[in-house]
Amino acid sequence: MNEFRQDLVSGDWVLISPSRGRRPHDFKAKKRKRAPKIGCKFENPREAASGGKVILSEPDGKYWKVQAILNKYPAVTKDGLWVIDEEKEGPFFVLPGYGYHEVIITRDHHKAFPDLDSDDAFLVLKVFRQRYRSLANDNNIAYIHTFANFGETAGATIYHPHYQILAIPIIPPDVRRSLHGSANYKEKNDACVHCTQINWEVEQKKRIICETKDAIVFAPYASKEPFEMRVFPKKHHPYFEDTDERELGSIGEALQTALKRLKKALNDPDYNFFIHTAPSRDREKYSHYHWHIEVVPRTNISAGFELGTSVEVNPMDPDDAASFLRDAK
Ligand SMILES: [Zn+2]
Ligand SMILES: [Zn+2]
Repeated sequence: MNEFRQDLVSGDWVLISPSRGRRPHDFKAKKRKRAPKIGCKFENPREAASGGKVILSEPDGKYWKVQAILNKYPAVTKDGLWVIDEEKEGPFFVLPGYGYHEVIITRDHHKAFPDLDSDDAFLVLKVFRQRYRSLANDNNIAYIHTFANFGETAGATIYHPHYQILAIPIIPPDVRRSLHGSANYKEKNDACVHCTQINWEVEQKKRIICETKDAIVFAPYASKEPFEMRVFPKKHHPYFEDTDERELGSIGEALQTALKRLKKALNDPDYNFFIHTAPSRDREKYSHYHWHIEVVPRTNISAGFELGTSVEVNPMDPDDAASFLRDAK
């Protein structure tokens, strides 16, 4: 059955179109090219860092496991600016390309997030949290976006596993819509839109992929992409950076399990994952929000219909995607 489904938070419509006849196995990736360790820029992050400076090393010294560096080719820079203002250029608004662009590198050349020891995966999330807290101190920063590009079609230009953080002076449109939808839902229903979805998924059971003590992973009802996954802390929290150690560990475990299943089910496909959290400024405004991680496998190519309408056509029913991922143990 083909169906238009509306996302409860953003209001976006998606066309779930399984009648296009693609089975889960049709989404399997081709064999991944493994780039050699020799000549890899991230074997020594200091050499790949802007100004040769390591921002953070965990642990410090020779036996480091995770390091954070400033990107040598940053999308945004601080560039000696202390205060930034919006200006007008003709009818347009313009802001300096201010911000921070950091790269978080894990030690092992071949171990992506699902392959790390659970302690090291936890360490990666702790480094994200530490950098968040530090970057949020800059009042020019409105939003901090943390993400992973895994594989060439997901935008990774370097093979060695790494993650990026971009702290920017604007709230990105996707986050703005998400915040807006969450605030509206709260006003109308006196409930968190994400808690509502979590409760419904728990009741329905169909789209749950895995669960840990403090986190749940499911395929969203209005999934835009085949095998899309959301990782939610079970407890309502607006801010990723406020998550405590125990919960963060449990969330890391859930993300690892979900990515391991994706890897097994679809033969190690490319994917992106990113954190959606409340903005770092005006914190009192966002108590309605519920931070989470979105995982988007790159198995599908958007074409003219999607580009021109923003209605994604998803040939994979999320119920079937979840069941396929659940079974990939
Ligand atoms: Zn490497
Ligand atoms: Zn909630």
